Amino acid sequence: MSTAGDLAATIRELVHANRILAHEGVVDAFGHVSVRHPHDPQRYLLSRSRSPAIVTAPDIMEFTLEGEAVDAGGRRPYAERPIHGAVYEMRPDVNAVVHNHAYEVVPFSVSAASPLRAVTHVSAVIGAAVPVWDIRTRFGDTNLLVVTMAQGRDLAATLGGGRVALMRGHGCVVAGRTLREAVNTAIYLRVNAILQQQALQLGEPQYLSPGEIERCTELQLSAFALDRAWEYWAARAGCENV
Ligand code: MN
Repeated sequence: MSTAGDLAATIRELVHANRILAHEGVVDAFGHVSVRHPHDPQRYLLSRSRSPAIVTAPDIMEFTLEGEAVDAGGRRPYAERPIHGAVYEMRPDVNAVVHNHAYEVVPFSVSAASPLRAVTHVSAVIGAAVPVWDIRTRFGDTNLLVVTMAQGRDLAATLGGGRVALMRGHGCVVAGRTLREAVNTAIYLRVNAILQQQALQLGEPQYLSPGEIERCTELQLSAFALDRAWEYWAARAGCENV
């Protein structure tokens, strides 16, 4: 594939990722997804500031890891892009990042009594322990948005080597080796929150063991599983038309 074709394919996949996350209820008016630039690991691609439900290829902008637009072209970027740049900066293994405020996930960011834990094999990808980052700890009273690289780096440090970190009273950040991996994890993070809430109501949930989480993750993040899920989500979201 040519270099230009490679970039065009990445942008197309990113547009589809936006549409899929919107259709699956992970993002609404807010939330965003990025991918590391296929030719330059010091840059990433992210839509201009608009709902992922209506993102198209011309909306995709290129940023340095510090969050500077390479060619803004009059387009207004998302305020919370430091979430993306800080994760790419700290994690060379990460090539896609999702930030969202999924309503079902947020309660687990504010309730220390019920930490988010994997309840089903398809959601094992969230990991054995999901850390919660609180912007107030280091930055005091803010509007809770992650708008500086210092805040982004602090969040990335809480994410550590994992795939998911919750953000207290706000939402979460999800990291993946590929767009498909990050989107898959963000979708099943929300599914897990729904199912865990139901299991907690029934009482005394039995969560997946660390060994089960390891084995289930290997399967769920295999190309076979990711491609099958992506085909389904893309069809549901009408991606053939964008
Ligand atoms: Mn946000």
